[in-house]
Amino acid sequence: KPVSPQELCARAENLIKTKRQLDQLKAQQVRLQQLAMTDQLTGLCNRHYLMEAAPNKISEAKRHQFPISLLVVDLDKFKNINDTHGHAVGDIVLSETGRVLKECCRDEDIVVRFGGEEFVILLSHCNIDAGIQKAESIRNKIEELEPNGLTVTGSIGVSAMGEGVNLLFKDLFNAADKAVYEAKDTGRNKVVAYTVLS
Ligand code: GH3
Ligand code: MG
Ligand code: MG
Repeated sequence: KPVSPQELCARAENLIKTKRQLDQLKAQQVRLQQLAMTDQLTGLCNRHYLMEAAPNKISEAKRHQFPISLLVVDLDKFKNINDTHGHAVGDIVLSETGRVLKECCRDEDIVVRFGGEEFVILLSHCNIDAGIQKAESIRNKIEELEPNGLTVTGSIGVSAMGEGVNLLFKDLFNAADKAVYEAKDTGRNKVVAYTVLS
């Protein structure tokens, strides 16, 4: 039975409406996903993003045999800043630190606020020597920053996956975490590095 022109028009309108709603829903979904992966204070990516993105980066590094480094940056005695100058000033220090870290890195690097006053940076095509160099330059930049006129320093743990080494993200992370603890234990405002060989 032939469809009337009115019926055809109504069906087309309905299809267009449904398509519009679907597009809106998709855009909303993308926006929500971005929100869930973003740290609101600094605008950096957050821990959830790192946990999703890092294993992919590691696989890529293994497949294409390029070196990869991980930096864990932890601000020194940050609790004192909050206690002495208030939480709002602490927040300024965190967002200024986040900005500096982002500026120091390439677009393809992953820079996240991991939590509190701890940041993590995953550097592709970066071996242990380049990772240490980058960490030293970041350590300097943090010291020079003086957010709100305050002297702020950070301790940085560096780890790197040697070429041809088969490891998981957690191995790389644990090594950098151990390194940052050592930096704290041996005076703070310094860089300590470990290469993960197996
Ligand atoms: P260390 O040199 O050993 O790292 O000492 P620390 O004081 O930096 O480390 P600690 O873990 O004792 O304290 C971290 C502080 O960071 C405690 C917490 O209140 C503060 N903090 C965590 N998240 C935020 C935040 O979003 N804003 C502010 N202002 N402070 C935060
Ligand atoms: Mg700290
Ligand atoms: Mg900490």
